[in-house]
Amino acid sequence: MEKVLIVEDSKVFARILIRKIEDELFFDACWASNFEEARYLLEENPDNNTFFVALLDLHLPDADDGRIVDYVISRGIPAIVFTGDVESEIRDRIWSKKVVDYVSKESPDSLDYLVSLVRRISLNKFVHILVVDDSQTVRNHLVRLLTAHEFIVHEANDGAYALSILERHPEIKVVITDYFMPGMDGVELTRRIRRGRRKDELAVIGISAYGNTILSARFIKNGANDFLNKPFSSEEFYCRVTQNLEMLEYIQKLRETSIRDPLTGLYNRRHFFEAAKAIHSRLCCGQAAMTLAMIDIDHFKKVNDTYGHAVGDEVLKHVAHGLANRFRGSDFVARLGGEEFCVIAAGLEGQHAMGVFNDLRNSIERSKAKAGKTSVGVTISIGICDKPCGSLDAMLAAADAALYKAKRTGRNRVVWAD
Ligand code: GH3
Ligand code: MG
Ligand code: MG
Repeated sequence: MEKVLIVEDSKVFARILIRKIEDELFFDACWASNFEEARYLLEENPDNNTFFVALLDLHLPDADDGRIVDYVISRGIPAIVFTGDVESEIRDRIWSKKVVDYVSKESPDSLDYLVSLVRRISLNKFVHILVVDDSQTVRNHLVRLLTAHEFIVHEANDGAYALSILERHPEIKVVITDYFMPGMDGVELTRRIRRGRRKDELAVIGISAYGNTILSARFIKNGANDFLNKPFSSEEFYCRVTQNLEMLEYIQKLRETSIRDPLTGLYNRRHFFEAAKAIHSRLCCGQAAMTLAMIDIDHFKKVNDTYGHAVGDEVLKHVAHGLANRFRGSDFVARLGGEEFCVIAAGLEGQHAMGVFNDLRNSIERSKAKAGKTSVGVTISIGICDKPCGSLDAMLAAADAALYKAKRTGRNRVVWAD
Protein backbone atom coordinates (compact mmCIF):
# COMPACT_ATOMS: atom_id res chain seq x y z
CA MET A 1 0.00 0.00 0.00
CA GLU A 2 1.44 3.35 -0.98
CA LYS A 3 1.34 6.03 1.68
CA VAL A 4 1.80 9.75 2.13
CA LEU A 5 4.61 10.90 4.42
CA ILE A 6 3.96 14.04 6.44
CA VAL A 7 6.82 15.76 8.25
CA GLU A 8 5.52 18.64 10.33
CA ASP A 9 6.28 19.78 13.88
CA SER A 10 2.86 21.30 14.55
CA LYS A 11 0.61 18.53 15.80
CA VAL A 12 -2.53 20.52 15.01
CA PHE A 13 -1.54 21.18 11.42
CA ALA A 14 -0.39 17.58 10.93
CA ARG A 15 -3.71 16.29 12.22
CA ILE A 16 -5.68 18.47 9.80
CA LEU A 17 -3.50 17.26 6.94
CA ILE A 18 -3.86 13.58 7.85
CA ARG A 19 -7.63 13.91 8.09
CA LYS A 20 -7.85 15.59 4.69
CA ILE A 21 -5.60 13.04 2.96
CA GLU A 22 -7.40 10.07 4.50
CA ASP A 23 -10.96 11.37 4.11
CA GLU A 24 -10.71 12.92 0.67
CA LEU A 25 -8.17 10.72 -1.07
CA PHE A 26 -8.36 7.47 0.92
CA PHE A 27 -4.58 7.24 1.22
CA ASP A 28 -2.87 6.26 4.45
CA ALA A 29 -0.69 8.99 5.93
CA CYS A 30 2.35 8.55 8.23
CA TRP A 31 3.37 11.45 10.43
CA ALA A 32 6.85 12.41 11.63
CA SER A 33 7.17 15.47 13.85
CA ASN A 34 10.83 16.14 13.15
CA PHE A 35 13.80 15.25 10.93
CA GLU A 36 15.00 12.35 13.10
CA GLU A 37 11.59 10.70 13.16
CA ALA A 38 11.28 11.09 9.41
CA ARG A 39 14.71 9.51 8.94
CA TYR A 40 13.71 6.66 11.20
CA LEU A 41 10.49 6.09 9.23
CA LEU A 42 12.33 6.04 5.92
CA GLU A 43 15.05 3.75 7.16
CA GLU A 44 12.44 1.44 8.67
CA ASN A 45 10.79 1.29 5.23
CA PRO A 46 13.76 0.97 2.89
CA ASP A 47 11.42 -0.14 0.10
CA ASN A 48 11.04 2.98 -2.02
CA ASN A 49 7.43 2.14 -2.79
CA THR A 50 6.21 2.78 0.73
CA PHE A 51 5.77 6.52 0.27
CA PHE A 52 4.71 7.91 -3.10
CA VAL A 53 4.83 11.53 -1.98
CA ALA A 54 6.01 13.55 1.04
CA LEU A 55 4.53 16.74 2.49
CA LEU A 56 7.31 18.60 4.22
CA ASP A 57 7.52 21.55 6.54
CA LEU A 58 10.48 23.67 5.49
CA HIS A 59 11.39 24.56 9.08
CA LEU A 60 11.71 21.77 11.62
CA PRO A 61 13.10 22.10 15.16
CA ASP A 62 16.00 19.75 14.42
CA ALA A 63 16.59 20.64 10.76
CA ASP A 64 16.25 24.15 9.46
CA ASP A 65 16.74 25.50 5.97
CA GLY A 66 14.90 22.72 4.22
CA ARG A 67 17.39 19.95 5.07
CA ILE A 68 14.42 17.57 5.23
CA VAL A 69 13.60 18.41 1.59
CA ASP A 70 17.07 17.46 0.36
CA TYR A 71 16.99 14.26 2.38
CA VAL A 72 13.55 13.11 1.17
CA ILE A 73 14.32 13.94 -2.47
CA SER A 74 17.60 12.03 -2.20
CA ARG A 75 15.49 9.00 -1.27
CA GLY A 76 13.62 9.35 -4.58
CA ILE A 77 10.36 10.57 -3.03
CA PRO A 78 8.57 13.52 -4.66
CA ALA A 79 8.34 16.36 -2.15
CA ILE A 80 5.67 19.01 -1.65
CA VAL A 81 6.85 21.77 0.67
CA PHE A 82 4.70 23.90 2.92
CA THR A 83 5.91 26.91 4.63
CA GLY A 84 4.65 30.01 6.37
CA ASP A 85 6.71 32.41 4.34
CA VAL A 86 6.68 32.55 0.57
CA GLU A 87 8.78 35.58 -0.19
CA SER A 88 10.45 35.42 -3.55
CA GLU A 89 13.88 34.60 -2.15
CA ILE A 90 12.51 31.58 -0.28
CA ARG A 91 10.43 30.58 -3.27
CA ASP A 92 13.55 30.50 -5.49
CA ARG A 93 15.37 28.43 -2.90
CA ILE A 94 12.52 25.95 -2.71
CA TRP A 95 12.37 25.58 -6.50
CA SER A 96 16.12 25.05 -6.71
CA LYS A 97 15.57 21.87 -4.67
CA LYS A 98 13.51 20.21 -7.45
CA VAL A 99 10.35 19.93 -5.42
CA VAL A 100 6.91 19.09 -6.83
CA ASP A 101 5.51 22.39 -5.60
CA TYR A 102 5.25 24.55 -2.51
CA VAL A 103 2.14 25.58 -0.63
CA SER A 104 1.66 28.45 1.76
CA LYS A 105 0.42 27.46 5.21
CA GLU A 106 -1.29 30.78 5.68
CA SER A 107 -4.35 30.45 3.48
CA PRO A 108 -7.06 27.88 4.24
CA ASP A 109 -7.57 27.27 0.49
CA SER A 110 -4.01 26.07 0.22
CA LEU A 111 -5.01 22.83 1.97
CA ASP A 112 -7.36 22.02 -0.89
CA TYR A 113 -4.56 22.80 -3.31
CA LEU A 114 -2.27 20.49 -1.36
CA VAL A 115 -4.80 17.67 -1.59
CA SER A 116 -5.21 18.23 -5.32
CA LEU A 117 -1.41 18.04 -5.70
CA VAL A 118 -1.22 14.73 -3.85
CA ARG A 119 -3.99 13.37 -6.03
CA ARG A 120 -2.20 14.61 -9.15
CA ILE A 121 1.08 12.94 -8.13
CA SER A 122 -0.74 9.67 -7.47
CA LEU A 123 -2.21 9.78 -10.99
CA ASN A 124 0.77 11.12 -12.93
CA LYS A 125 2.64 7.84 -12.94
CA PHE A 126 0.08 6.61 -15.46
CA VAL A 127 0.31 9.71 -17.68
CA HIS A 128 2.62 9.70 -20.71
CA ILE A 129 4.07 12.98 -21.97
CA LEU A 130 6.19 13.57 -25.08
CA VAL A 131 8.86 16.28 -25.11
CA VAL A 132 10.01 17.48 -28.55
CA ASP A 133 13.07 19.71 -28.79
CA ASP A 134 16.24 19.56 -30.87
CA SER A 135 18.31 20.85 -27.96
CA GLN A 136 19.44 18.10 -25.62
CA THR A 137 19.92 20.66 -22.82
CA VAL A 138 16.33 21.92 -23.05
CA ARG A 139 15.02 18.37 -23.30
CA ASN A 140 16.95 17.36 -20.20
CA HIS A 141 15.53 20.31 -18.31
CA LEU A 142 11.92 19.54 -19.32
CA VAL A 143 12.35 15.82 -18.64
CA ARG A 144 13.71 16.59 -15.20
CA LEU A 145 10.75 18.85 -14.40
CA LEU A 146 8.26 16.24 -15.61
CA THR A 147 9.86 13.28 -13.86
CA ALA A 148 9.86 15.27 -10.60
CA HIS A 149 6.06 15.13 -10.98
CA GLU A 150 6.22 11.39 -11.68
CA PHE A 151 5.13 11.57 -15.34
CA ILE A 152 6.25 8.92 -17.82
CA VAL A 153 8.29 10.94 -20.30
CA HIS A 154 9.16 10.22 -23.93
CA GLU A 155 11.68 12.33 -25.86
CA ALA A 156 12.08 13.25 -29.52
CA ASN A 157 14.73 15.46 -31.09
CA ASP A 158 12.67 16.33 -34.19
CA GLY A 159 9.12 16.39 -35.55
CA ALA A 160 9.36 13.24 -37.67
CA TYR A 161 10.59 11.17 -34.73
CA ALA A 162 7.88 12.71 -32.53
CA LEU A 163 5.19 11.54 -34.98
CA SER A 164 6.62 8.01 -35.01
CA ILE A 165 6.64 7.91 -31.19
CA LEU A 166 3.01 9.09 -31.12
CA GLU A 167 2.09 6.31 -33.53
CA ARG A 168 3.72 3.71 -31.30
CA HIS A 169 2.39 5.23 -28.06
CA PRO A 170 -1.24 6.23 -28.49
CA GLU A 171 -1.42 6.51 -24.68
CA ILE A 172 0.54 9.79 -24.81
CA LYS A 173 -1.71 12.55 -23.43
CA VAL A 174 0.42 15.68 -23.74
CA VAL A 175 3.01 16.83 -26.28
CA ILE A 176 5.29 19.72 -25.36
CA THR A 177 7.04 21.03 -28.45
CA ASP A 178 9.61 23.64 -29.27
CA TYR A 179 9.13 25.83 -32.35
CA PHE A 180 12.55 26.08 -34.04
CA MET A 181 13.68 22.60 -35.04
CA PRO A 182 15.44 21.37 -38.15
CA GLY A 183 13.18 19.61 -40.69
CA MET A 184 9.75 20.30 -39.25
CA ASP A 185 8.93 23.21 -36.95
CA GLY A 186 6.66 22.94 -33.91
CA VAL A 187 3.65 24.52 -35.63
CA GLU A 188 3.86 22.06 -38.55
CA LEU A 189 4.23 19.20 -36.07
CA THR A 190 1.09 20.40 -34.25
CA ARG A 191 -0.81 20.54 -37.55
CA ARG A 192 0.20 16.97 -38.39
CA ILE A 193 -0.68 15.69 -34.92
CA ARG A 194 -4.17 17.16 -35.36
CA ARG A 195 -4.78 15.06 -38.49
CA GLY A 196 -5.16 12.07 -36.20
CA ARG A 197 -5.76 13.29 -32.65
CA ARG A 198 -8.31 15.80 -31.42
CA LYS A 199 -7.64 18.62 -28.97
CA ASP A 200 -9.80 16.92 -26.35
CA GLU A 201 -7.81 13.66 -26.56
CA LEU A 202 -4.25 14.95 -26.71
CA ALA A 203 -3.01 18.32 -25.52
CA VAL A 204 -0.25 20.09 -27.44
CA ILE A 205 1.68 22.82 -25.63
CA GLY A 206 3.91 24.88 -27.89
CA ILE A 207 6.99 26.61 -26.58
CA SER A 208 7.33 30.00 -28.20
CA ALA A 209 10.70 31.57 -28.70
CA TYR A 210 11.66 34.54 -26.60
CA GLY A 211 9.80 37.72 -27.52
CA ASN A 212 7.84 36.21 -30.42
CA THR A 213 4.21 36.75 -29.40
CA ILE A 214 2.86 36.02 -32.89
CA LEU A 215 4.15 32.48 -32.55
CA SER A 216 1.84 31.75 -29.61
CA ALA A 217 -1.16 32.67 -31.76
CA ARG A 218 0.14 30.54 -34.63
CA PHE A 219 0.49 27.56 -32.30
CA ILE A 220 -3.09 27.95 -31.07
CA LYS A 221 -4.51 28.54 -34.56
CA ASN A 222 -2.87 25.37 -35.78
CA GLY A 223 -4.31 23.18 -33.06
CA ALA A 224 -2.19 23.67 -29.94
CA ASN A 225 -4.09 23.74 -26.66
CA ASP A 226 -1.67 26.12 -25.00
CA PHE A 227 1.75 27.72 -25.23
CA LEU A 228 4.59 28.77 -22.99
CA ASN A 229 6.72 31.80 -23.67
CA LYS A 230 10.44 31.38 -23.10
CA PRO A 231 11.82 31.82 -20.53
CA PHE A 232 9.27 30.27 -18.18
CA SER A 233 9.45 29.41 -14.50
CA SER A 234 9.07 25.86 -13.20
CA GLU A 235 5.96 27.06 -11.45
CA GLU A 236 4.33 28.28 -14.65
CA PHE A 237 5.38 25.13 -16.51
CA TYR A 238 3.68 22.88 -13.95
CA CYS A 239 0.55 25.03 -13.89
CA ARG A 240 0.19 24.79 -17.67
CA VAL A 241 0.79 21.04 -17.84
CA THR A 242 -1.58 20.33 -14.95
CA GLN A 243 -4.28 22.63 -16.26
CA ASN A 244 -4.22 21.01 -19.68
CA LEU A 245 -4.28 17.51 -18.24
CA GLU A 246 -7.17 18.35 -15.95
CA MET A 247 -9.10 19.74 -18.91
CA LEU A 248 -8.58 16.46 -20.82
CA GLU A 249 -9.65 14.44 -17.80
CA TYR A 250 -12.72 16.60 -17.30
CA ILE A 251 -13.81 16.18 -20.90
CA GLN A 252 -13.14 12.45 -20.71
CA LYS A 253 -15.31 12.23 -17.60
CA LEU A 254 -18.13 14.20 -19.21
CA ARG A 255 -17.96 12.00 -22.27
CA GLU A 256 -18.05 8.85 -20.11
CA THR A 257 -21.10 10.03 -18.18
CA SER A 258 -22.91 10.99 -21.37
CA ILE A 259 -22.56 7.49 -22.82
CA ARG A 260 -23.22 5.47 -19.65
CA ASP A 261 -26.43 4.44 -17.96
CA PRO A 262 -26.11 5.82 -14.41
CA LEU A 263 -27.80 2.88 -12.67
CA THR A 264 -25.83 -0.01 -14.18
CA GLY A 265 -22.75 1.69 -15.61
CA LEU A 266 -23.36 -0.06 -18.95
CA TYR A 267 -23.48 1.94 -22.20
CA ASN A 268 -26.78 3.75 -22.65
CA ARG A 269 -29.28 3.53 -25.49
CA ARG A 270 -28.04 6.62 -27.33
CA HIS A 271 -24.46 5.42 -27.35
CA PHE A 272 -25.58 1.94 -28.31
CA PHE A 273 -27.01 3.09 -31.63
CA GLU A 274 -23.95 5.19 -32.45
CA ALA A 275 -21.40 2.55 -31.52
CA ALA A 276 -23.33 -0.46 -32.80
CA LYS A 277 -23.42 0.96 -36.33
CA ALA A 278 -19.64 1.36 -36.35
CA ILE A 279 -19.04 -2.11 -34.88
CA HIS A 280 -21.47 -3.67 -37.34
CA SER A 281 -19.89 -2.11 -40.41
CA ARG A 282 -16.36 -2.89 -39.22
CA LEU A 283 -17.14 -6.54 -38.56
CA CYS A 284 -19.28 -6.86 -41.69
CA CYS A 285 -16.53 -5.36 -43.86
CA GLY A 286 -13.98 -7.77 -42.52
CA GLN A 287 -16.47 -10.64 -42.90
CA ALA A 288 -15.93 -11.39 -39.23
CA ALA A 289 -18.36 -13.46 -37.18
CA MET A 290 -20.70 -11.51 -34.91
CA THR A 291 -23.71 -12.21 -32.75
CA LEU A 292 -26.26 -9.69 -31.58
CA ALA A 293 -28.35 -10.67 -28.56
CA MET A 294 -31.43 -8.96 -27.11
CA ILE A 295 -31.83 -9.83 -23.45
CA ASP A 296 -34.85 -9.15 -21.25
CA ILE A 297 -35.47 -10.00 -17.59
CA ASP A 298 -38.51 -12.24 -17.13
CA HIS A 299 -41.47 -10.96 -15.13
CA PHE A 300 -39.45 -8.07 -13.83
CA LYS A 301 -42.58 -6.10 -13.03
CA LYS A 302 -43.33 -8.74 -10.38
CA VAL A 303 -39.98 -8.03 -8.69
CA ASN A 304 -40.89 -4.36 -8.38
CA ASP A 305 -44.42 -5.18 -7.26
CA THR A 306 -43.25 -7.69 -4.65
CA TYR A 307 -40.10 -6.07 -3.24
CA GLY A 308 -40.31 -2.44 -4.32
CA HIS A 309 -38.47 -0.33 -6.88
CA ALA A 310 -35.22 -0.08 -4.89
CA VAL A 311 -34.80 -3.86 -4.85
CA GLY A 312 -35.77 -3.88 -8.55
CA ASP A 313 -32.83 -1.53 -9.14
CA GLU A 314 -30.46 -3.91 -7.34
CA VAL A 315 -31.67 -6.75 -9.57
CA LEU A 316 -30.99 -4.63 -12.65
CA LYS A 317 -27.47 -3.91 -11.39
CA HIS A 318 -26.93 -7.58 -10.64
CA VAL A 319 -27.93 -8.69 -14.15
CA ALA A 320 -25.88 -5.88 -15.72
CA HIS A 321 -22.88 -6.96 -13.69
CA GLY A 322 -23.32 -10.54 -14.89
CA LEU A 323 -23.39 -9.34 -18.51
CA ALA A 324 -20.41 -7.02 -18.15
CA ASN A 325 -18.37 -9.76 -16.51
CA ARG A 326 -19.03 -12.27 -19.24
CA PHE A 327 -18.52 -9.94 -22.19
CA ARG A 328 -15.47 -7.74 -22.19
CA GLY A 329 -12.79 -6.46 -24.52
CA SER A 330 -14.06 -6.52 -28.08
CA ASP A 331 -17.69 -7.12 -27.01
CA PHE A 332 -20.25 -4.42 -26.45
CA VAL A 333 -22.91 -4.44 -23.73
CA ALA A 334 -25.65 -1.82 -23.37
CA ARG A 335 -28.82 -1.22 -21.40
CA LEU A 336 -31.39 -0.26 -24.01
CA GLY A 337 -34.00 0.74 -21.46
CA GLY A 338 -36.01 -0.66 -18.54
CA GLU A 339 -34.97 -4.29 -18.10
CA GLU A 340 -33.78 -4.79 -21.68
CA PHE A 341 -30.12 -5.20 -22.63
CA CYS A 342 -28.21 -5.80 -25.84
CA VAL A 343 -24.88 -7.54 -26.39
CA ILE A 344 -22.82 -7.46 -29.57
CA ALA A 345 -20.21 -10.20 -29.39
CA ALA A 346 -17.46 -10.14 -32.00
CA GLY A 347 -16.01 -13.39 -33.36
CA LEU A 348 -18.94 -15.42 -32.09
CA GLU A 349 -21.50 -17.37 -34.15
CA GLY A 350 -23.46 -20.60 -34.54
CA GLN A 351 -23.41 -23.26 -31.85
CA HIS A 352 -20.59 -21.47 -30.05
CA ALA A 353 -22.78 -18.39 -29.63
CA MET A 354 -25.66 -20.54 -28.48
CA GLY A 355 -23.38 -22.12 -25.86
CA VAL A 356 -22.11 -18.79 -24.55
CA PHE A 357 -25.58 -17.24 -24.21
CA ASN A 358 -27.00 -20.40 -22.67
CA ASP A 359 -24.22 -20.30 -20.07
CA LEU A 360 -25.07 -16.68 -19.38
CA ARG A 361 -28.78 -17.51 -18.99
CA ASN A 362 -27.85 -20.35 -16.65
CA SER A 363 -25.53 -18.24 -14.51
CA ILE A 364 -28.21 -15.55 -14.05
CA GLU A 365 -30.76 -18.22 -13.11
CA ARG A 366 -28.38 -19.71 -10.53
CA SER A 367 -27.30 -16.42 -8.98
CA LYS A 368 -29.24 -14.15 -6.64
CA ALA A 369 -29.30 -10.39 -6.41
CA LYS A 370 -28.87 -9.08 -2.87
CA ALA A 371 -30.49 -5.96 -1.48
CA GLY A 372 -30.05 -5.69 2.29
CA LYS A 373 -31.58 -8.83 3.75
CA THR A 374 -33.58 -9.57 0.62
CA SER A 375 -32.18 -11.95 -1.94
CA VAL A 376 -33.96 -12.21 -5.29
CA GLY A 377 -33.54 -14.66 -8.15
CA VAL A 378 -34.57 -13.81 -11.71
CA THR A 379 -34.31 -15.43 -15.13
CA ILE A 380 -33.65 -13.87 -18.52
CA SER A 381 -34.89 -14.55 -22.04
CA ILE A 382 -32.51 -14.06 -24.96
CA GLY A 383 -33.05 -13.66 -28.71
CA ILE A 384 -29.93 -13.97 -30.86
CA CYS A 385 -29.06 -13.23 -34.46
CA ASP A 386 -25.67 -14.13 -35.97
CA LYS A 387 -26.17 -12.98 -39.56
CA PRO A 388 -24.26 -9.69 -39.69
CA CYS A 389 -24.37 -9.03 -43.38
CA GLY A 390 -27.82 -7.53 -43.47
CA SER A 391 -28.20 -4.08 -41.93
CA LEU A 392 -27.85 -3.49 -38.20
CA ASP A 393 -31.57 -2.68 -38.08
CA ALA A 394 -32.35 -6.04 -39.68
CA MET A 395 -30.23 -7.81 -37.05
CA LEU A 396 -31.95 -5.91 -34.24
CA ALA A 397 -35.40 -6.72 -35.60
CA ALA A 398 -34.49 -10.41 -36.02
CA ALA A 399 -33.05 -10.68 -32.48
CA ASP A 400 -36.11 -8.86 -31.13
CA ALA A 401 -38.47 -11.28 -32.86
CA ALA A 402 -36.46 -14.18 -31.43
CA LEU A 403 -36.70 -12.65 -27.94
CA TYR A 404 -40.45 -12.31 -28.35
CA LYS A 405 -40.59 -15.99 -29.31
CA ALA A 406 -38.54 -16.90 -26.20
CA LYS A 407 -41.09 -15.04 -24.07
CA ARG A 408 -44.05 -16.70 -25.80
CA THR A 409 -42.63 -20.20 -25.51
CA GLY A 410 -42.05 -20.13 -21.75
CA ARG A 411 -39.24 -17.58 -20.95
CA ASN A 412 -35.82 -18.41 -19.40
CA ARG A 413 -34.48 -19.60 -22.77
CA VAL A 414 -32.29 -18.63 -25.75
CA VAL A 415 -33.93 -18.55 -29.17
CA TRP A 416 -32.31 -18.14 -32.61
CA ALA A 417 -33.62 -15.65 -35.10
CA ASP A 418 -35.13 -17.38 -38.16
P1 GH3 B 1 -41.65 -10.06 -19.40
O1 GH3 B 1 -41.21 -11.33 -18.81
O2 GH3 B 1 -42.70 -10.22 -20.42
O3 GH3 B 1 -40.51 -9.25 -19.90
O4 GH3 B 1 -42.35 -9.23 -18.21
P2 GH3 B 1 -41.80 -7.99 -17.42
O5 GH3 B 1 -42.60 -7.81 -16.19
O6 GH3 B 1 -40.32 -8.16 -17.24
O7 GH3 B 1 -41.99 -6.80 -18.47
P3 GH3 B 1 -42.82 -5.46 -18.40
O8 GH3 B 1 -42.40 -4.72 -19.65
O9 GH3 B 1 -44.28 -5.73 -18.23
O10 GH3 B 1 -42.29 -4.69 -17.12
C1 GH3 B 1 -41.04 -4.14 -17.06
C2 GH3 B 1 -40.94 -3.39 -15.75
O11 GH3 B 1 -39.64 -2.85 -15.58
C3 GH3 B 1 -41.89 -2.24 -15.67
C4 GH3 B 1 -41.06 -1.07 -15.17
O12 GH3 B 1 -41.66 -0.41 -14.09
C5 GH3 B 1 -39.79 -1.72 -14.71
N1 GH3 B 1 -38.63 -0.84 -14.84
C6 GH3 B 1 -38.19 -0.17 -15.93
N2 GH3 B 1 -37.08 0.54 -15.64
C7 GH3 B 1 -36.81 0.32 -14.33
C8 GH3 B 1 -35.79 0.78 -13.44
O13 GH3 B 1 -34.86 1.55 -13.79
N3 GH3 B 1 -35.82 0.33 -12.15
C9 GH3 B 1 -36.80 -0.53 -11.73
N4 GH3 B 1 -36.76 -0.93 -10.47
N5 GH3 B 1 -37.77 -0.95 -12.54
C10 GH3 B 1 -37.79 -0.56 -13.82
MG1 MG C 1 7.62 24.34 11.70
MG1 MG D 1 -39.11 -8.21 -18.94
